[in-house]
Amino acid sequence: MAAKFKADTSKRWLTLDYRPLELEQQVREFWETNKVREKLEQMRLVDNKGVLGYVEGPPTLNGVPHVGHARGRVMKDLRYRWKSMQGFYVPFWAGWDCQGLPVELEVERGLGVRNKRDLLERVGEEHFVAECKKTVMKYHKEWFEADKKLGVFMNHDKAYWTFLDEYIEREWQYLKRAWEQDLLGEGYYVVAYCPHCQTSLSNAEVGLGYEEVDDPSLYFKMKLKDSENEYFLVWTTMPFTLVTDLMLAVHPDAEYVKVKVGEEKWIMVRQRVEDLMQELKVKDYRVLDVVGGKNLEGLKYEYPFLDMVPKQSELDQNPLVHSVVTEDFVDVTAATGVVHLAPGNGEDDFKVAQRRKVPVYVPFDDEAKFTADAGEFAGLFARDADSHVVDVLRKKGLLVSVKTVTHEYPLCWRSHHKLVWLARKEYFLWTDKINSRVVEAAEKVSYFFESPRNRFLSFLKEGKPWCVSRERVWGAPLPVWVCQSCGNKVFVASKKELFERANAEPTQDFELHKPWVDRLVLKCDKCGHSMKRVPFVLDCWHNAGASPYARFTSEERNTFVPADFLTEGMDQTRGWANTLLLEHVVFTGKAEAPYKAFLFQGLAQDAKGRKMSKSLGNVLEANTVLEKHSADVFRFYALWKCSPVDAMSFDMRELSKRPYQVLGTLYHLHRFFMQNAEYDRFNPLVHTLAWAREQGMLAPADRWLLSNLQNTVAQYTARLESCEFNFACEELEKFVVDVLSREYVPMVRRDLWSDDPESLNRRLAVYATLWHVLRSLVLLFNPVSPFVCEFLWQNVYCALDKDLGESVNLQPWPLPVENLRDEQLEHDLGLLLRVVALSYSARQAGGLKRRWPLRKAVVVASRDQVKALKALEDLFLELANVKSVGFLNELSGAESAVEEGLWKTASEGDLMVSLDSERDAGLLGEGVMRDLARRVQALRKDLGFSPTDMLEAVHLAGLDDETKGLLEPLLGVMAGLVRARKVSLYRDMREVAGVAQEEWREFSFDDKRVCVAVK
Ligand SMILES: [Zn+2]
Ligand SMILES: [Zn+2]
Repeated sequence: MAAKFKADTSKRWLTLDYRPLELEQQVREFWETNKVREKLEQMRLVDNKGVLGYVEGPPTLNGVPHVGHARGRVMKDLRYRWKSMQGFYVPFWAGWDCQGLPVELEVERGLGVRNKRDLLERVGEEHFVAECKKTVMKYHKEWFEADKKLGVFMNHDKAYWTFLDEYIEREWQYLKRAWEQDLLGEGYYVVAYCPHCQTSLSNAEVGLGYEEVDDPSLYFKMKLKDSENEYFLVWTTMPFTLVTDLMLAVHPDAEYVKVKVGEEKWIMVRQRVEDLMQELKVKDYRVLDVVGGKNLEGLKYEYPFLDMVPKQSELDQNPLVHSVVTEDFVDVTAATGVVHLAPGNGEDDFKVAQRRKVPVYVPFDDEAKFTADAGEFAGLFARDADSHVVDVLRKKGLLVSVKTVTHEYPLCWRSHHKLVWLARKEYFLWTDKINSRVVEAAEKVSYFFESPRNRFLSFLKEGKPWCVSRERVWGAPLPVWVCQSCGNKVFVASKKELFERANAEPTQDFELHKPWVDRLVLKCDKCGHSMKRVPFVLDCWHNAGASPYARFTSEERNTFVPADFLTEGMDQTRGWANTLLLEHVVFTGKAEAPYKAFLFQGLAQDAKGRKMSKSLGNVLEANTVLEKHSADVFRFYALWKCSPVDAMSFDMRELSKRPYQVLGTLYHLHRFFMQNAEYDRFNPLVHTLAWAREQGMLAPADRWLLSNLQNTVAQYTARLESCEFNFACEELEKFVVDVLSREYVPMVRRDLWSDDPESLNRRLAVYATLWHVLRSLVLLFNPVSPFVCEFLWQNVYCALDKDLGESVNLQPWPLPVENLRDEQLEHDLGLLLRVVALSYSARQAGGLKRRWPLRKAVVVASRDQVKALKALEDLFLELANVKSVGFLNELSGAESAVEEGLWKTASEGDLMVSLDSERDAGLLGEGVMRDLARRVQALRKDLGFSPTDMLEAVHLAGLDDETKGLLEPLLGVMAGLVRARKVSLYRDMREVAGVAQEEWREFSFDDKRVCVAVK
């Protein structure tokens, strides 16, 4: 069809609707071909107003990115593009977390590994490591692809990989500082342990995996030694820990009582008696003696399984074992106020034993199964022993009650197995010793929102030691070698040092991983015997937490750390944000965090607000979503829907609603601008705002729009600064949809559709205004939705001004221009818009379409308001579509007319608008004619005709007789307006000869379909 018209194919996009997927593919290719990302980085490296350090929070390469990850990356990219435009250099370099449990479990699943023995014996460490690397590379492709689709301007060539030797060596140097300060060392302590993964976990990792689970809840009795019928009443949810029970604890300052139940006396805390008896459904009971908790100290009780666990009989010889101790941590507001202590299975219990020099009894193997030391319980997995213990208690007449409780309990954050606590020999970073410095450092950081700040600080204040050793394979090895003879330990911090001290040359394929590193045996300085490496790898969170040091050269580190701004998911309060902080404080010895600001993002949910999980099958993968949906629209949606700190429910149906509308409006405003501006040969170099002002051609509407823009620039930038991205996007939304499209365009539409040479300068002034405003808007939008911005930059701005920069990304960030501000005008025009809105209400009340010109309006307002409105009278006539308006301070003058019922009125507060509802055929015809002429004019521009081209004929079809009747007297005027030799009207387009079907354009007019064709 285009061939029939004089359409200019280079401007083809002007006739197209907003089709983001096509446009984005073009822009992706443009960025790649022209190396725009590289140019931006290079430009800011050389020419910047400061450096803002950045360290990428490395995604773990054990799965594909989902929309929640994509949301986080959009926030990072937003910040990067925005700060770069502001003139800062940011090392926006990628990084990948490659080691640790998440990757190992992914590989285990692929290989069908049943347990660790299966892994070591059937698969072997070398093969396993090779598979881990394959997995990492497989998922890297997915992440790389998602970044490309999303338009994330991260430098992937400078990515760090946490498994590479040079990274691990720098991590070792980090850790060496801790070793030298005695903050790293072997310790015997209770740690959380995953029976499936067969490794201990850190306190922080425990916090990552709480879920609701069922457990037995039981009340049982422990008989007071040498008594007739007296028992301590105890409660637990982990019956298996009775096997390792060594003490009972009571609170020293609480009052305990003996409660007579039947023939027995039960010892428990006084304040819980009533509630508990009710809970246990014991009706007949009597409270006997009251005794202070401290007086119970040292009493011995009869351990119930002495006959089943020989080791316990041995331990029972120790007077402290199976005796009552007093401890402040005993909670007397719950259960019975008497707790049993199993030092091998509980942190507090363990500390009590250590303090009192009670031996710790831990009869478990690496699968958390009881060993031979546990007598009749040997071979049972800890949690499987629960029911067995309950049975024995029942048989021995010691069980009081058992039921099931559902409660929050920590599961392994990767394998989802119930964790158990075991006393083990592990390596610890004794971060509890430097906790005050850690907390002080964290308090200096900006978190933008209160809730994550509190969450993070309260976690840090727990200040527990950090267990950094893992009994796994795919990780940075813990570089401690131990003498097999004298126990001497050395910490080796580099490959060079290692090779120098090793007894044999490393093999060709040597790398800093198991099993290669374990093959190096060192010679002991003290006794000359051989030293072997400890069996551990490092916690993968330590690995990633070393990045501010390990990913840079020393020089870069001095420049980029502390980082200016980091952002990761809310779960990273216990993860990366925590380990970054701990390691930095250990390393520097200062109360300083390696980041100045940290934005914790809310998690991703599905449309129904449920957590995304593989088991629910509701995970939205980023790449799949971005195949079908626009990256720009997705980015806008991810930032606009809710505060970054809130959990976001992703509903893909919402993309096509408001987010699409906002970007579509931005696009169509440019189309509208470009069609008109090119038609009138607008030249941005000549027709500047200054020129328009000198010509006296800037109307109040233009000045109002320009003033409004300054406000939007300031507000929007401030919202970005405070990470209120949703409110920032709302600023853009409001400006594009309301201010520009709904308010400003109607104010200037009549100016633009005429092509009278006499009013050309007025039109050029509108273009100058739009050029300035839309261009600023594109710059503001760029960090949010960069594709459409680049597209418009190329096709509008560079098309009209060849000297503009190559890419929108290379442009400076807009600043509010003070002399374009006019608060009085903003206020007055705001008032005018309210009055216009009232006129629409009045029309609605009278069934008067907005298109119908009316003879007269009366506006009632205060004296000051009338003054302001009178100055904007022309604009009112245009927007309200009336021929004249009278302004009154009070109603009196209009009253009589209103009463006659010919007037339609609407009011709001002290403002009132009345419209003369009497219709006039002449006015109506003119209204219809002008409206249709405007459509023809738009079509002329759409088809690429120039203002001087004379159309042969204009055909309008689909008109009813009444409309035709109104228009007929005005056809000559209309022909003049649209520059056509002849305008003809038809009821049906089939009446028109010589116009092909595809040449007709259809639009709706008064709820009817009207067609237009031009020749
Ligand atoms: Zn696990
Ligand atoms: Zn030695």
